[in-house]
Amino acid sequence: MNDNVAGLHRVFDTGATLPLDWRREQLRRMKGMITAHRKDIEHAVYLDLGKPAAETALMEIKLVLDEIKFVEPRLARWSGRHHVTMPLLMQPARSWTITEPKGVILVISPWNYPLMLSLEPMVDAIAAGNCVCLKPSELSPNTSALLQRLIGEYLDPRAFAVVQGAVPETTELLRQPFDHIFYTGNGRVGSIVMEAAAKQLTPVTLELGSKSPVFVDASANLDVAAGRIAWGRFTNAGQTCVAPDYVLTTPELVEPLAQKISAFTHKFFGDNPAESASYGRIVNTRQFDRLAGLLPTDGKAFSGGETNRERLYIAPTILTNVRPDDPVMQEEIFGPILPILAVRDAREAVKFINRRPKPLALYVFSRSKATRLLFERHTSSGALGFNLPLGHLLSSRLPFGGIGASGMGSYHGKAGFLEFSHVKTVTSKPTFPDTLRIAYPPYRNILR
Ligand code: NAD
Repeated sequence: MNDNVAGLHRVFDTGATLPLDWRREQLRRMKGMITAHRKDIEHAVYLDLGKPAAETALMEIKLVLDEIKFVEPRLARWSGRHHVTMPLLMQPARSWTITEPKGVILVISPWNYPLMLSLEPMVDAIAAGNCVCLKPSELSPNTSALLQRLIGEYLDPRAFAVVQGAVPETTELLRQPFDHIFYTGNGRVGSIVMEAAAKQLTPVTLELGSKSPVFVDASANLDVAAGRIAWGRFTNAGQTCVAPDYVLTTPELVEPLAQKISAFTHKFFGDNPAESASYGRIVNTRQFDRLAGLLPTDGKAFSGGETNRERLYIAPTILTNVRPDDPVMQEEIFGPILPILAVRDAREAVKFINRRPKPLALYVFSRSKATRLLFERHTSSGALGFNLPLGHLLSSRLPFGGIGASGMGSYHGKAGFLEFSHVKTVTSKPTFPDTLRIAYPPYRNILR
């Protein structure tokens, strides 16, 4: 491991990753790698998560290809000189900024979108001209092994390393010197990563989880809201960081909304989702047991609630008899369970949300301009979506990241390019005339 990381530093120091042509070439190779191995990727992700191939195609493969397509033609512009004017007092002088790659980046990724969450940060890091050490998740071993093989085969082997392993290996990796650590996963490990990084003053990006709330009011188109909430919640069997975690709505809407969302789950996955080719599975028994423990002990779900431990199956489940102090409201659910809670109005929803850690995403279904403004101005979250769960994740033009407990820093597109770059200020002043002399002592109080 030491040799691996030291090797990456040596390669970076040679300047091999600086030329824009090298960066473009790596991105093209990554595109070729994904395109040639679509089926292998879909199969590996299916083995790891039981994820339907269509979901892998849209939410993993397409997202990485879109990111490459967006970043590649723009990286020359982003990394070029940006001239700015110097203050009058400094004239004559010129100044500009350039971006330089940070160096060797450690990307630690989780299991829930094992391809996308490994390669999308890599795309941005490559665009910025860095070497990358990737540590994919041990909980998605098929995808991790495939990534290791393909990255070794397709990308410049001098500049990229894939280290597989679990806690001991990652702990050891975190002792190595890196120029930036990009971590995606849960907040508990996020603080372990940040503590390790602090020892070496290494900057970090933390892409963490949260309970992402949804608010629905009576002015909303309930049918559309129900469909979009069901899609956002039950894609990947609920194991999506920006999935709607719980719904807040006014008391009279709890029942009709629950009914409509439930109707959508039937449309999506049929009467027995366990047999549906469009419905995923829980990643492992540990997660299964945790989620099963969040189901009501009396078995009374509004709909769903069926489980099969052997098949790691939990039906799309909607809960309506939920109190804010129930276990299901204490932690990120990260599974196919959706509690719906009553609040008096939008103001109470805002208070409810603001009393809790800042979420990665917040979704509002309302036609009221005042309500939208209320959420825009008086809540804080990584992203805010009006009538649109998950949508912001799909655009390379939008920064993606959390705030507070849901993370720090952001990536995708230009935000990612900048996250992995240092923006360096350059100034230049002619030696003649030597106007700086007016600032030299003895002082004459020229500004008074
Ligand atoms: P995970 O268990 O795969 O862990 C993530 C990574 O951390 C893995 O590579 C793992 O090896 C490493 N790791 C685990 N324990 C460690 C330790 N003690 N020290 C050092 N490294 C360690 O994934 P997870 O954390 O279960 O992922 C799910 C969480 O991630 C959820 O909270 C989810 O919301 C969040 N998430 C966030 C985003 C985002 O973009 N913000 C995306 C996906 C998932």
